[in-house]
Amino acid sequence: MIKLLALKEIMNQCPYCSEKTISAWQKFKASDLYPAICSSCGKPSRMSTSLNTIEDLAGTVLFPVAAVFSFLNKTWLPLVAFTFILVLGAFLKLRYLPMVAVNEKAVVKKYWFAFGALVMLFIWLLYDGFIK
Ligand SMILES: [Zn+2]
Repeated sequence: MIKLLALKEIMNQCPYCSEKTISAWQKFKASDLYPAICSSCGKPSRMSTSLNTIEDLAGTVLFPVAAVFSFLNKTWLPLVAFTFILVLGAFLKLRYLPMVAVNEKAVVKKYWFAFGALVMLFIWLLYDGFIK
């Protein structure tokens, strides 16, 4: 258990050169826009996101449910349990999910898509608020 908790000791394998160069902290911080840079080959990577959909779902659906339940029953227990599950999930991801290569073209596409979606939302909100 102590060995499992020693995150500092865990170095993650670079998806390009297979050297163990990426620290748990780098892995934690890494995203598409700010990837972890391998100290051996200098290429960008981030944590595999295979669990992100489940995590997003849990965050957007389960959290309000836990919050409402806490409020109605005047207890912090569901929120505490929820936080614990989130922390545990983050820890397990850091420990077991592999690093994957960052594809710069795919990233740019993704951010343009997000930007487009935001613009659409903004226009819709404007329309809803002022024109109706
Ligand atoms: Zn590398």
